[in-house]
Amino acid sequence: MELARRQIRIRGVVQGVGFRPFVHNLARRMGLAGYVLNSSAGVVAEVEGPPDLLDRFVACVRGEAPPLARIEELLVAEIPPLGERDFTIRESQAQAGEFVLVSPDVATCPDCYRDFTDPANRRYGYAFTNCTNCGPRYTIIRDIPYDRPNTTMAGFRMCAACQAEYDDPANRRFHAQPNACPECGPQTSAPIAEAQRRLSAGAIVAIRGLGGFHLACDPRNHAAVRLLRERKRRSDKPFALMARDLDAVEAFCAVSDDDRHALTSPRRPIVILPRRGDSGISPAVAPGNDTIGVMLPYTPLHHLLFTGAPYDALVMTSGNQSEEPIVTSNDEALDRLRPLADWFLLHNREIYMRADDSVVRTFEGVERVLRRSRGFVPQAIDLGMEVAEILACGGELKNTFCLSKGRYAVLSQHIGDMENYETLVFFEETLANLKKLFRVEPRAVAHDLHPLYLSTQFALRVPDLEKIGVQHHHAHIASCMAENGLRGKVIGVALDGTGYGTDGRVWGGEFLVADYGGFERRAHLRYIPLAGGDAAVRQTWRPALAYLADTFGPAVEFPELAIWRDVPESPRKLVRNMLAHRVNTIDTSSCGRLFDAVASLIGLRQQINFEGQAAIELENIAAEQVVDAYPFGLDGDTVDFRPAIERIVAEVRAGAPAPEIASRFHNTVADAVTEVCRRLRVEENLDRVCLSGGTFQNMKLLARTLAGLRQKGFEVFIHAQVPPNDGGIALGQAVIAAELLRRT
Ligand SMILES: [Zn+2]
Ligand SMILES: [Zn+2]
Ligand SMILES: [Zn+2]
Repeated sequence: MELARRQIRIRGVVQGVGFRPFVHNLARRMGLAGYVLNSSAGVVAEVEGPPDLLDRFVACVRGEAPPLARIEELLVAEIPPLGERDFTIRESQAQAGEFVLVSPDVATCPDCYRDFTDPANRRYGYAFTNCTNCGPRYTIIRDIPYDRPNTTMAGFRMCAACQAEYDDPANRRFHAQPNACPECGPQTSAPIAEAQRRLSAGAIVAIRGLGGFHLACDPRNHAAVRLLRERKRRSDKPFALMARDLDAVEAFCAVSDDDRHALTSPRRPIVILPRRGDSGISPAVAPGNDTIGVMLPYTPLHHLLFTGAPYDALVMTSGNQSEEPIVTSNDEALDRLRPLADWFLLHNREIYMRADDSVVRTFEGVERVLRRSRGFVPQAIDLGMEVAEILACGGELKNTFCLSKGRYAVLSQHIGDMENYETLVFFEETLANLKKLFRVEPRAVAHDLHPLYLSTQFALRVPDLEKIGVQHHHAHIASCMAENGLRGKVIGVALDGTGYGTDGRVWGGEFLVADYGGFERRAHLRYIPLAGGDAAVRQTWRPALAYLADTFGPAVEFPELAIWRDVPESPRKLVRNMLAHRVNTIDTSSCGRLFDAVASLIGLRQQINFEGQAAIELENIAAEQVVDAYPFGLDGDTVDFRPAIERIVAEVRAGAPAPEIASRFHNTVADAVTEVCRRLRVEENLDRVCLSGGTFQNMKLLARTLAGLRQKGFEVFIHAQVPPNDGGIALGQAVIAAELLRRT
């Protein structure tokens, strides 16, 4: 019989997903000899047997790969046969400089769920049950190849029963690196039933999870939720919930099929859902918000927290002091979370990489990421083109950074607002880890143009490497282009709160003609002066006064407006003086401040307690049925909202309902975007529009803008894999820097 031998090299998400046992079992079933191993480049197999069987083998590897695997590349080479008889799994090999895709953490699979809920199973009630199809990955991996000694499970020695599973190719736990049982694996510090008892009694419990600590309490216990807010010093920002199961979610939210799909995916993100009014959930969970973020349990420990419990949902908010990174270690928790928690449920499986819960929203049938973290990271984004090795440091708020190599970009997990030392340390630790895991040695560092961002300052301190400054809104548009695989020029509409402009002013309502190599700023919102730096972002009445002065002149008085009622006279006068004399003001074309101004003018809110709060509330109240809009001006490169402000003030004074005004205002912004794009199409002959920036998290604005643009025949691209907010700009910085390096 003629024998052949082939070497197969597979790249992609192929480690920690049961790929080797799959290859092993397939080869044995087909009677082929050879071996399979993990290398730092992926999986390598050699198979020997009749050539037609080898063809079938390769086809099966492609077609029947395990559910969590993702094959990016499969290369086959003929090599001389060796006369081998058996098929084996060999020791892993590490190769310098190679790139392997590391799996994100994966939610508990149905088989494991059955194991720990079956009283006859040896893992009954065991909080760390996992298998090759599920369990911790990124958060426990110290290095590649992904083998137990390279994880935080290294210190746990498998018992005979677990070892037998691990060694048996027919077993679901064959080479499951975090495999464990109650005999040999990690343990909780106290019975989970005790945590249940305390949560039911209204306590705030710090719970060590997969990527960090949560602070948990009963969301139907109003006093407990209020107390948690007080202790976290977080007055309004919504808390996420974890619900027992889909039925529980549907008890307090409206859930579409797309949402159901997102909720139950192996990534188990927090999904933003419309809340029901009569749910019994404390209004303090998400004050003034008609949506609520909900996730399903994603580890056995979480499932067990609900097993037999009287509650069907828990508040599960990041265990941290207000703006610091999520706490991961037991010692740190007992120290830093002591003032926040009444009790602690710890465990002894160390978290190597912290990762917050991810946040998504579904729109037009697609899951769209707003915060990209656990379950998504470090899944690489395929750029469809070769790029240099680059570090892109991202922005200031909602920071993530990006490493590129080969044809991939790896975006870090959500780091947070880079405003304190702890967050910078988290940034640096994560960077060191991802450079190591993906064997990236950047040759250039990309950064935002804002000189005071900690991420910019970090970039400029990196020795010896070329530094590439990237304009904030150009990065937004490039990130949208990159995830949609676009090449060539597009019309880019970037609407957000703040981004440093090339003229030193604060940009945020920007219309660009852009490609990866550069951009022209073709239009922007008319500049208004912002008085008082950060205060102008926290206090919506400051941009409102600026818009009023710009529209009606500096001396105008509107005693009927909420500003005159709700803002004391002396700060109001002070700000009007600052605006009139341009003292301590900075010009901005920010769309976020325009939304703030309108929220203030209609009396919705004069002060915000978290980023975007006024815009979110304006979106919430905006009526659905209203179809008309306000006028606006378009003069040269300036989009002028003064005609709209004039009408809004007149309607407020005439007592028009706020939901109608808010709705017409949304329509006006959508109209303005459509009109500017229409003009640019005439001038540039471009039909493709990319929408990016945090303002497009507003679903009413997004839907109305899309409708307007599509009606005019534009092809419109929006975000899905990366956030439209500043959590996505590192990807844009990386592809822009790669293009500039290619050209030099
Ligand atoms: Zn499993
Ligand atoms: Zn065991
Ligand atoms: Zn931005």
